[in-house]
Amino acid sequence: MFDALAERLEDAWKKLRGQNKISQSNIQDALQEVRRALLEADVNLQVVKTFVAEVEQKALGAEVISGVNPGQQFIKIVYDELVKVMGESNVPLAQADKPPTVILMAGLQGTGKTTATAKLALYLRKQNQTCLMVATDVYRPAAIDQLITLGQQIDVPVFEMGSDADPVEIARAGVEKAKEMGVDTVLIDTAGRLQIDRDMMAELARIKATVNPHDTLLVVDAMTGQEAANLTRTFQEQIGITGAILTKLDGDTRGGAALSVRQVSGQPIKFVGVGEKVEALQPFYPDRMASRILNMGDVLTLVEKAQEQIDIADVEKMQSKILEAKFDFNDFLKQMRLLKNMGSLGGLLKMIPGFSKLSGADIEKGETELKRTEAMINSMTTEERANPDLLAKSPSRRRRIARGSGYEESDVTKLVSNFTRMRNMMQQMGRGGMPAMPGMPGM
Ligand code: GDP
Repeated sequence: MFDALAERLEDAWKKLRGQNKISQSNIQDALQEVRRALLEADVNLQVVKTFVAEVEQKALGAEVISGVNPGQQFIKIVYDELVKVMGESNVPLAQADKPPTVILMAGLQGTGKTTATAKLALYLRKQNQTCLMVATDVYRPAAIDQLITLGQQIDVPVFEMGSDADPVEIARAGVEKAKEMGVDTVLIDTAGRLQIDRDMMAELARIKATVNPHDTLLVVDAMTGQEAANLTRTFQEQIGITGAILTKLDGDTRGGAALSVRQVSGQPIKFVGVGEKVEALQPFYPDRMASRILNMGDVLTLVEKAQEQIDIADVEKMQSKILEAKFDFNDFLKQMRLLKNMGSLGGLLKMIPGFSKLSGADIEKGETELKRTEAMINSMTTEERANPDLLAKSPSRRRRIARGSGYEESDVTKLVSNFTRMRNMMQQMGRGGMPAMPGMPGM
């Protein structure tokens, strides 16, 4: 994500490297790069102007800190400003004093509105909240079916009245139903059009006036770039939104939308969609997004994702095993599976600083390596898995595993020696109190 923007900014501060002072003249090139990068990333022109002016002012006024070169200092200034434009901190969903909280979903067709409705419901369900989703898109019967299917998938009920009823009436009845059921949150999916359309806006305004939502979230497709600013402005003026969800950030998108939405509407991006699956939703954190834009990786998101998947008790067990050098192939397999559950290896690696530039081929290689390792571990006996040293000592065992898994004996030998090395390394890290992250097999 944001690769083009990150590269441009990298170029910009390269020009400042080796200079010992930020001055009006030496900063112009860098500012020009920032400006161009943002415009190329489809950030709204006005947003770019404000942004660059602010960066220039801060850069010139900045004290030169000893031990830090001007390039690094410039990155920090751009970073801080990016965070500021995107809203400083995460803004959570609104919560009604008296349930149900009503969330109205708005946006054009195809932006991922229906998917985002289900993603949010699942997100809330994971926080032990109960939800009801309401299908009001009577113009596309497929949209109602889509929501029903998603509801079944995530085990959240869907309220609908078919495609003959009036959307405003469905929304009203849906909220009534939610009250009756005593759910915490009711999410109303609405109809979208391919473009902004007067009838659609009028209907949305009526639904809003009827159900009085606590949150009105505009779903914005991150791939629409510059258009995102105009779209946001129109919805803000005609409907009044309280936040946005930026979808499809997993794709080959440009950074523009993230910067523009907040600036144009004054409202925060609350979540980002990062994939087609219902789990692919993350709270939006301006600082993390800024790191990402600046190619600094997104370690925090990675850690959070890991925490969500890994049972803390499991981690503690694993940690003490590592400390006692009892970490074996069973634990290794478990960690590999956790890694897999956390999503694609490529997606994960992109969040780690320094790995963001891995090519598709590198990532594929890593994934193949994981599969290979798993196949070899699967061919081990229970005894061997629990006691990796048996394998280090016995070539005949290694040969048997090679045969069973369809690989060479040398592959198994390599796996065993890498495992031993990794275990030693993890032991050292473990003493430092770090949670054990899965080591990359084959490295
Ligand atoms: P709606 O018309 O706005 O309700 O859009 P849908 O929810 O039907 O989504 C349109 C398409 O976008 C579907 O193919 C979704 O799977 C896809 N989609 C939605 N959100 C995301 C996302 O965050 N990432 C990716 N890659 N695809 C998404």
